[in-house]
Parts: sequence; structure tokens; C-alpha cells
Amino acid sequence: KQMMRLDKLLGNMGLGTRSEIKKAVKQGKVAVDGVVVKDSGLQVEPARQKIEFEGTPVVYKSEIYLLLNKPQGVISATEDMRERTVIDLLREEDRLLQPFPVGRLDKDTEGLLLLTNDGQLAHELLSPRKHVNKTYEALVRGAVNEEDKVQFALGVELDDGYVTMPANLVIHEVKEDGGDEEANSFISLTIQEGKFHQVKRMFEAVGKKVVKLRRVAMGPLQLDESLDLGQYRELTDEELAALR
Ligand code: URA
Repeated sequence: KQMMRLDKLLGNMGLGTRSEIKKAVKQGKVAVDGVVVKDSGLQVEPARQKIEFEGTPVVYKSEIYLLLNKPQGVISATEDMRERTVIDLLREEDRLLQPFPVGRLDKDTEGLLLLTNDGQLAHELLSPRKHVNKTYEALVRGAVNEEDKVQFALGVELDDGYVTMPANLVIHEVKEDGGDEEANSFISLTIQEGKFHQVKRMFEAVGKKVVKLRRVAMGPLQLDESLDLGQYRELTDEELAALR
């Protein structure tokens, strides 16, 4: 049950400052389930109860679609005993709608993560039959080369015997260290499925190591570069339409 204070809810909906709202409630301008209430500290359940402000229903939208720029150090789960989760990054009014991450990024992976409470959409995006493309940028230890590109296009065998679907590797830069140290490569990789640690394991399969990973696209969604790590926004109508 998702409860919150009435004044907090009305404040979150932009209906005034805390003291303005308190006054309005005292004046009998707010009703819950058709009954005028005078206590602005009342606990209400916005998803279920009908709240009216000066006779107008306060529409608490029931579906939510959030585009998060996930930072490192938080896990893509809704709850965890010890770790901070992506849900902990959300504002209370968004958390109330109980969004969950669509798929997973590793704790140390950054970038685009969609959160929604739309189970149907999540299911479709995650369905293996749909082959929703996911594009990652990575810093890789070792010199990524044309042979890797061919390998990834054909499919590589992961440590558990799974052979990946065709993936598109773009090599942006290979920095030779000069000395005995290994080179570093900056690449993009687009994959069609989403096996556990897939990008890291694909590079392991060709003898290289991902040292930094960031997702920049999922299906039609692009990471919004104006979002700092840990920031999020709602999907635009255009983005939502493109997903459906
Ligand atoms: N592949 C990985 O190895 N990790 C991620 O977080 C996403 C894709």
C-alpha cells in the first residue's frame, strides 16, 4: 500500500506551497473520496483514493515511463537488503507509482535505463523474439580489431556455450600504450539480445576486457545526454509512441 501525506501529495502536484495547502485544507477546499477533510497531514493512497482540490479531481496519473541515466554503484532492482537500487534515485511521487527497471544493467554499468509500471510494454521490450537492439559504448582493455568485428557479426560463443546473435561493432579509437602495457579501445556495440553480462562476456570471448560500459540506446530510445548521472525524466509523447 502506497500511502503519503495529503499536503505532500498536493504539493507534489504543484497546487501550492506546504503552508498554502494547509490553509486550503483548513478552509475545506479539499475532499478525499467525496468527504471534505481538514487535516492536511492525513495519510492518503493516491493510486486508489479520489482526491479533489476546489472541486476538481487531482489526477494522479497511473502509468509512468522514466528515462534514467543510471550511475555506477546502484543496482537495477526494485528492492535490495544491502545495495542502493535505481528506485532509490526516484522522487517520492514517482516511486509511488511503483515503476521497475525494464531489463538490467550491471551495478558498474552506466547509461540508459527505462523504468515503467507498464508490464505489457516491459514484456514486449524484453521478449527475446522481438530482438530489441541495445547499443553500448565501452572502454576495452586491449586492441579491438577488424577480426573482432567479424567475429561479433557472425556470433561468438560465450563461456556457457551460448552463441550470440549478429552484433555490430564500431571501433572509434584504439590507443596503443607505447610501452608494455596493453592498448585501450573505445568502441560501440549493438546487440540484439540481453544475456547476463553479455557485452563483457563477448569481449572475454575474444580475449579482451571491458573496463567501462555505458548503454546509449535501447530500441528507439536514445540516452538523453542532458541528463547527469542519476538524473531522469519522463519519456516524451514521441518517445512513447516510438516504443509502442
Ligand atoms: N552487458 C554487460 O556485460 N553488462 C551490462 O550491464 C549490460 C550489457
